[in-house]
Amino acid sequence: MRELALWAVEALVEEAFGDIAGLARGCRFLDCAHGAEPGCAVAAALAAGTIDAARWTSYQKLLAEARYHEWVSSKSAAAEEKRKWKAIHKEMRHHPKHRR
Ligand SMILES: [Zn+2]
Repeated sequence: MRELALWAVEALVEEAFGDIAGLARGCRFLDCAHGAEPGCAVAAALAAGTIDAARWTSYQKLLAEARYHEWVSSKSAAAEEKRKWKAIHKEMRHHPKHRR
Protein backbone atom coordinates (compact mmCIF):
# COMPACT_ATOMS: atom_id res chain seq x y z
CA MET A 1 0.00 0.00 0.00
CA ARG A 2 2.79 2.36 0.97
CA GLU A 3 4.84 1.49 -2.09
CA LEU A 4 1.93 2.45 -4.29
CA ALA A 5 1.39 5.71 -2.45
CA LEU A 6 4.99 6.79 -2.86
CA TRP A 7 4.93 7.21 -6.61
CA ALA A 8 1.28 8.21 -6.68
CA VAL A 9 1.59 11.10 -4.21
CA GLU A 10 3.06 13.47 -6.74
CA ALA A 11 0.23 12.73 -9.17
CA LEU A 12 -2.32 13.24 -6.42
CA VAL A 13 -0.83 16.59 -5.45
CA GLU A 14 -0.86 17.70 -9.09
CA GLU A 15 -4.48 16.63 -9.36
CA ALA A 16 -5.54 18.45 -6.18
CA PHE A 17 -3.70 21.58 -7.26
CA GLY A 18 -4.49 21.25 -10.96
CA ASP A 19 -4.57 24.99 -11.64
CA ILE A 20 -1.25 25.60 -9.95
CA ALA A 21 0.37 22.51 -11.44
CA GLY A 22 -0.75 23.66 -14.87
CA LEU A 23 0.78 27.08 -14.33
CA ALA A 24 4.00 25.59 -13.01
CA ARG A 25 4.21 23.33 -16.05
CA GLY A 26 3.40 26.23 -18.35
CA CYS A 27 6.26 28.26 -16.96
CA ARG A 28 8.74 29.03 -19.69
CA PHE A 29 11.65 28.11 -17.50
CA LEU A 30 12.38 24.42 -17.55
CA ASP A 31 13.90 24.19 -14.09
CA CYS A 32 12.21 27.21 -12.54
CA ALA A 33 12.02 27.56 -8.78
CA HIS A 34 9.02 29.85 -9.37
CA GLY A 35 10.41 32.42 -7.00
CA ALA A 36 10.85 35.96 -8.22
CA GLU A 37 12.14 35.15 -11.71
CA PRO A 38 10.92 37.75 -14.18
CA GLY A 39 8.75 36.03 -16.77
CA CYS A 40 7.86 33.18 -14.44
CA ALA A 41 4.23 32.18 -15.00
CA VAL A 42 3.72 31.30 -11.34
CA ALA A 43 5.24 34.52 -10.01
CA ALA A 44 3.04 36.48 -12.41
CA ALA A 45 -0.09 34.60 -11.31
CA LEU A 46 0.83 35.15 -7.67
CA ALA A 47 1.35 38.86 -8.26
CA ALA A 48 -1.92 39.10 -10.16
CA GLY A 49 -3.73 37.16 -7.44
CA THR A 50 -4.76 34.44 -9.91
CA ILE A 51 -3.48 31.84 -7.50
CA ASP A 52 -3.64 32.01 -3.74
CA ALA A 53 -0.24 32.39 -2.09
CA ALA A 54 -1.20 30.00 0.73
CA ARG A 55 -2.30 27.35 -1.78
CA TRP A 56 0.92 27.82 -3.69
CA THR A 57 2.90 27.32 -0.49
CA SER A 58 1.06 24.10 0.38
CA TYR A 59 1.45 22.87 -3.18
CA GLN A 60 5.20 23.37 -3.03
CA LYS A 61 5.41 21.82 0.41
CA LEU A 62 3.40 18.74 -0.57
CA LEU A 63 5.31 18.29 -3.78
CA ALA A 64 8.63 18.60 -2.00
CA GLU A 65 7.45 16.04 0.53
CA ALA A 66 6.30 13.65 -2.20
CA ARG A 67 9.65 13.98 -3.96
CA TYR A 68 11.51 13.50 -0.71
CA HIS A 69 9.66 10.26 -0.01
CA GLU A 70 10.29 9.15 -3.55
CA TRP A 71 13.98 9.91 -3.12
CA VAL A 72 14.15 8.09 0.21
CA SER A 73 12.43 5.02 -1.21
CA SER A 74 14.67 4.97 -4.26
CA LYS A 75 17.66 5.36 -1.99
CA SER A 76 16.64 2.45 0.22
CA ALA A 77 15.89 0.41 -2.89
CA ALA A 78 19.43 1.11 -4.08
CA ALA A 79 20.82 0.16 -0.68
CA GLU A 80 18.85 -3.08 -0.79
CA GLU A 81 20.21 -3.80 -4.25
CA LYS A 82 23.75 -3.17 -3.05
CA ARG A 83 23.26 -5.44 -0.04
CA LYS A 84 21.93 -8.18 -2.30
CA TRP A 85 24.94 -7.94 -4.61
CA LYS A 86 27.29 -7.97 -1.67
CA ALA A 87 25.68 -11.20 -0.47
CA ILE A 88 26.02 -12.71 -3.95
CA HIS A 89 29.69 -11.74 -4.16
CA LYS A 90 30.31 -13.13 -0.71
CA GLU A 91 28.61 -16.36 -1.69
CA MET A 92 30.73 -16.54 -4.83
CA ARG A 93 33.90 -16.31 -2.77
CA HIS A 94 32.88 -19.50 -1.02
CA HIS A 95 32.80 -21.21 -4.37
CA PRO A 96 35.99 -20.16 -6.10
CA LYS A 97 36.75 -21.35 -9.58
CA HIS A 98 38.84 -24.45 -9.70
CA ARG A 99 42.47 -23.59 -9.73
CA ARG A 100 44.73 -25.48 -12.00
ZN1 LIG B 1 8.42 29.59 -12.87
